[in-house]
Amino acid sequence: MKLKVNDTIKVTLGKDRGKTGKIEKVLPKANTVVVTGVNVYKKNLKPKGEKEPGGIIDITKPLSISKVALICPKCHLQTRIGFQGIGKKKIRICKKCKKPIKSSGTKK
Ligand SMILES: [Zn+2]
Repeated sequence: MKLKVNDTIKVTLGKDRGKTGKIEKVLPKANTVVVTGVNVYKKNLKPKGEKEPGGIIDITKPLSISKVALICPKCHLQTRIGFQGIGKKKIRICKKCKKPIKSSGTKK
């Protein structure tokens, strides 16, 4: 998976084309990402009694990674991700400015 949590992406296809946002969640098995404020749908909730009165909530649906492009944190251009090996480690690099792309996501 090339994309990581907290990467900034731009949507290239679909109803939210042109929008940018930060990746909230990566779902590698489904090849999808959840991006804050992108691909948001309204859902009507039925009232379930006094504590849950129902109403309309926003749900952020995952987007296919084929519909997003990374925005490089260094050159701020829409770019592709390349990989470069440093020793045994592989790091992500921006194909436009060749600078490493660091993930600011929390490591587990
Ligand atoms: Zn770059």
